[in-house]
Amino acid sequence: MSKVLETTIAGSLPKPRWLAEPNVLWAPWRLEGDALTEGIADAVRLAVDDQEEAGIDIVTDGEQTRRHFVTTFLEALDGVDFEHRKTVRIRNRYDAAVPVVVGPVARRHPVFVDAARFLRSATRRKIKVTLPGPMTLVDTLYDAHYRSREKLASAFAEILNDEARAIEAAGADVIQFDEPAFNVYFDEVRDWGVRTLERAAQGLACTTAVHICYGYGIKANIDWKQTLGSEWRQYEQTFPLLAQSSIGQVSLECAKSHVPVELISLLEGKDVLVGAIDVATETVETPEAVAATITQALRHVPIERLYPCTNCGMVPLSRAVARGKLRALAAGAALVRGG
Ligand code: ZN
Repeated sequence: MSKVLETTIAGSLPKPRWLAEPNVLWAPWRLEGDALTEGIADAVRLAVDDQEEAGIDIVTDGEQTRRHFVTTFLEALDGVDFEHRKTVRIRNRYDAAVPVVVGPVARRHPVFVDAARFLRSATRRKIKVTLPGPMTLVDTLYDAHYRSREKLASAFAEILNDEARAIEAAGADVIQFDEPAFNVYFDEVRDWGVRTLERAAQGLACTTAVHICYGYGIKANIDWKQTLGSEWRQYEQTFPLLAQSSIGQVSLECAKSHVPVELISLLEGKDVLVGAIDVATETVETPEAVAATITQALRHVPIERLYPCTNCGMVPLSRAVARGKLRALAAGAALVRGG
């Protein structure tokens, strides 16, 4: 019988301070040219090592290869102008100066394919590669060309599908699309969000996943969470749609959140990546706390479909804390397996 409760992470890990300033999102690189290429490769090896040492089963490159989970992807596309930015409201939450879509979008070259190949060579464990989802890409731009969020998302879905197929060929076991925007625009999720996500994942033989969260532990997100009331039922609208979709796995926030855990029963038939690590605090969970979150979730999802995971990326945390959380995650899963 294969191992149950295989552990994985949402995606990102903190970067070493010689590569980028710690505890800062989107921190600029501290190296350039060949030194940057070599530095990123070393950082990936360390991220893999931290996960293996902790006992994580399905590893990522810790997103050491990208400054930001969305903009690094957009930089490789034609049709996007980074010079003349416009300020827009992101996910109805905070203002940011974003690139502008000025013409048809197209992928100039593969974006994360070399990174996937390198990760494949750096570990014998299963590997997961993350990509931004179509709706989240749309929500991080000003669109002066398509004038339709749906049309732009469809164009992105085709580009993402080309990229995902190449990443699969590079040896990825899991390809995950990050769609935090699915927690905000429920009508659009219903009308075209799930459809464009499926288009992005079309034809993939590897495992496919979608990550939907309440964001990193940054102030704009914490302020937003305070407006959501005592029970967060956003997933109630999206999970039934995802249960009907062709996506294999759903990664969600659970630990220390106000999400009623029984909502995961709406994902019948899907693998569920249960967030058992809170990324909004520097406090490291005990293995027992992780085990308690997993045990709670097990009332609503069969054990062979449950993958203990983190709530979201750990990039804003310190490396020591992230390592502690990786160990707690693996140890907590082991406790439940052993019990
Ligand atoms: Zn997230």
